[in-house]
Amino acid sequence: MSLLRQPILLLARSTKVKKLVSTMPVSSGIVTAHVPGETTTDAVRATQGLVDDGLRATLDYLGEDTTDVAQADATVAAYKDVLAELVARGLASKAEVSVKLSAIGQFLPDQGHKVALENAREICRAARNAGTTVTLDMEDHTTTDSTLTILRELRKDFPETGAVLQSMLHRTEADCRALAYEGSRVRLCKGAYMEPEDVAFQDKVEIDKSYVRCLKVLLGGQGYPMIATHDPRMIHIASSLASRFGRRAGTYEFQMLYGIRPEEQKRLAAAGETVRVYIPYGTEWYGYLMRRLAEKPQNIAFFARSLVSKK
Ligand SMILES: Cc1cc2nc3c(=O)[nH]c(=O)nc-3n(C[C@H](O)[C@H](O)[C@H](O)COP(=O)(O)OP(=O)(O)OC[C@H]3O[C@@H](n4cnc5c(N)ncnc54)[C@H](O)[C@@H]3O)c2cc1C
Repeated sequence: MSLLRQPILLLARSTKVKKLVSTMPVSSGIVTAHVPGETTTDAVRATQGLVDDGLRATLDYLGEDTTDVAQADATVAAYKDVLAELVARGLASKAEVSVKLSAIGQFLPDQGHKVALENAREICRAARNAGTTVTLDMEDHTTTDSTLTILRELRKDFPETGAVLQSMLHRTEADCRALAYEGSRVRLCKGAYMEPEDVAFQDKVEIDKSYVRCLKVLLGGQGYPMIATHDPRMIHIASSLASRFGRRAGTYEFQMLYGIRPEEQKRLAAAGETVRVYIPYGTEWYGYLMRRLAEKPQNIAFFARSLVSKK
């Protein structure tokens, strides 16, 4: 884990920094490197480009920590809109959607759990009608129990709904065991949030070791693992474990973020692997961008130049 990761994530919480950064146009190099645009059309265009390269996609309408019912409703409408557009373009079999429960009401006072569940159900229904699936993104550790409870509820009607687990959390190996059952789609990532040491590994080596333990559980289990990482070592280990457990290509997939290691995405796909690219789009790109900057502090100089040159 980079030494700068925690300070950058801490700085990202400052309202002053948010105000300054959010005034950057989406067309700034550093934003477009990670987010293809603000509209459904931009997202679908990016999906088409990836599908043309033999890749799949999962689309994330950006937004998080919504405390307003109207905004949660607008997010649900945006997902329905993009799903309809994927169908219209014949892309629904190659693209699904990723949803953050905090964007659809999880944090609303009193009713949060109920509203998020109902909204998630609506998106799952629209995805099912479109012939595709939903994956519930995982946010910081304070939401893990609530998110997994909503997942369990949703899976009663929509068993195809995907979960996300983060290897940085101490609890995750046990969560992997609980979710490694037939038909269970589980995305394994390292975790992008700043977490305290009583719940999370802080050291990169420990997070990576946990990632490998979780890979063993998921690839050795009965579910459908979605291996979300750009880390060459983790990709290599995952491929070796897949062979060791007799997994055929198509019984698991690799996932990477839009704009990160695109050549590796295409190389894996050309080698016969299923590779899905996570495409974030929309106006609320601030939190997402800051998490990406925290992971790759080399981007900071580039970022600072974009800020200075902003109109
Ligand atoms: C599809 C997908 C979905 C995700 N969903 C979630 C989620 O729901 N919740 C959540 O908390 N997190 C999520 N994440 C983010 C994830 O948790 C990590 O924060 C992020 O992927 C960085 O970790 P890493 O495994 O790529 O490796 P890191 O430990 O960050 O990096 C390891 C190595 O990978 C390579 N690498 C990493 N980043 C880059 C880069 N930008 N350019 C070039 N090489 C690079 C480098 O060789 C680096 O040394 C998701 C990630 C992906 C790919």
